[in-house]
Amino acid sequence: MTVRDYGTIDLSVDRTGEAMESINKEVWMLAEVSNEESESAKVHIRELEAAGFTITSLETSGRPNAFIAEWEQGSDGPRIGFLPEYDALPDLGNSASADQAAAPNGKSAGHGCGHNLLGAACTGAAIALKFTMEMEGLPGLVRVYGCAAEETTGAKVYMARDGYFDDIDVCIAWHSGSKASTGYVRSAAVNHIVLEFHGKTAHAGANPWEGRSALDALELFTHGINLMREHVPTTARMHYVIQSGGGAPNIVPDYTRLFMYLRDIDRAGVDALTTWSRSLAEGAAMGTQTRADFKVTFGMYDMMANTPLVENCQKHLEAIGVPQWTDVEQDFAREIQRNFGIPDTGLATSVEPITPPSTMGGSSDVGDVSWCTPTVWFNYPSVPLGIGMHTWPVTACGGMSIGSKAVDGAAKVMARMAYDLMTDADLRAAARADFEERRGDIAYVSPLESVS
Ligand SMILES: [Zn+2]
Repeated sequence: MTVRDYGTIDLSVDRTGEAMESINKEVWMLAEVSNEESESAKVHIRELEAAGFTITSLETSGRPNAFIAEWEQGSDGPRIGFLPEYDALPDLGNSASADQAAAPNGKSAGHGCGHNLLGAACTGAAIALKFTMEMEGLPGLVRVYGCAAEETTGAKVYMARDGYFDDIDVCIAWHSGSKASTGYVRSAAVNHIVLEFHGKTAHAGANPWEGRSALDALELFTHGINLMREHVPTTARMHYVIQSGGGAPNIVPDYTRLFMYLRDIDRAGVDALTTWSRSLAEGAAMGTQTRADFKVTFGMYDMMANTPLVENCQKHLEAIGVPQWTDVEQDFAREIQRNFGIPDTGLATSVEPITPPSTMGGSSDVGDVSWCTPTVWFNYPSVPLGIGMHTWPVTACGGMSIGSKAVDGAAKVMARMAYDLMTDADLRAAARADFEERRGDIAYVSPLESVS
C-alpha cells in the first residue's frame, strides 16, 4: 500500500476556509426552512461559481432550490459527488449563546439540525478537491448536489429517481452530531402517508343519525394502528398527528385528516406496513359509512453502508481527530448541558471506534443515494455530548466557533476521502464491489413511484 501525502489536500481545505465560513455564517443567519431555502442555495452557488464550478442544473428534478454544480478536468476520470444540505427547522431559532434565547435575525426558524455546517463543509470539501486536482493535474469530475428540503421532501429522492447519481463513482456526506463516528448504522426507510376521511355533517344533538362521522373513522383507524404495534417487527415505527379532527362538538365532522410516517429497516418492511395501514383505512371507512382517501405522499430508502468506504473514513477521522477545543468552548458546552438538564461532560475529545451494524429510528434521503451509488456518511462533533439533533443547542453551537471548527474538521475528512477515491482505482473498485454485493438483485425502485 502506498503512503499518501495529504499535505496538498489539507492545505486546499485551509485555502477554502473563508468560503466555508461565509456559507456557514450566512446560511445560519438566513435560517430558511425546507422548500423556501432559495437564498441559502444561492450562497452555495455563489461560492462554487467563484471557485470555478459550473452550475449545470437549477431546480433539479423540479425541486425548488435544488441544483447541481460541476467541475471537470480531463476526460474519463473518476467522478466524486458531495451532498450539501441547507434547510433550517421551524421553531428552533436561537442565539449563539449557551441558553435558550431569541435569534439575532429575529426569525423563529433555526439550524437545529446543523445544516449550515453540513452544507458549508460539503461544498468546501468539493472546492478543496478541485484546487488539489488542478495543482496535481488529476483527471476527474467533482459534482456538488444542492440537496434542498432534507427535513421534509428531500430533493435527493427526486434526483435519485431521475438517475442523477447513476454515473458517479462515490458520494460523500457527513452530518453534525455530538461524536466523531462512522460505521454501519442504518437509517430507516419511510413512507409519508396522508389519510383523509369524508363523512356527512349533521347536528350532533338534534339528528346525529343523519350524519356519518369522519372522526369515528379516524378513531377506528388510529385504534387499529395502535393494535398493529404488537404484531409488527420491533424495527417498525408508526407515528402520526391528527391535522384536522373536526370543528365543533355539536357538528358531526364530515372531514378529518391524519399525517403519518411508516418506517422500518428496509423498503419491503415499509411496503408491508403501508399495505396493512391501507386495509385499516378501508375497513374504518366501511364500518363508519364514510370514505377513506389514503395517499402515499413521499418515501425514502434505508441507508446502505459500504465497508471499504467506512474503513477509509475511519482512517481519516482518526488522522484528523476531533477539533482542538479551547477551555472557553468546553465551558460553553458544559453550560449548555446544564441548561438542557443533562450531565455536563463537555464536547467529544476522541474519535469513536467503527459503529457496528445497528438501526436508527430516523430516516434520511442520503439513503436513496446509497442505493444508487456507493455512499459514505459520518458524524462529526458540533454539539456537546448527549445533545440530539433538532434541538436549540444545535442552533446555538452552529452559530459560534464550535460549529466553525466542526466545518473545518469535517471538510478535511471528506476532502481526504475524496482525494483517495480520485487517486486510488482499487479503492473505487472495492467500494463498487461491496455496493453490488450488498444490493444483490434488489434494484432501486423510487419510493415516489408509489406516491398516489
Ligand atoms: Zn439533518
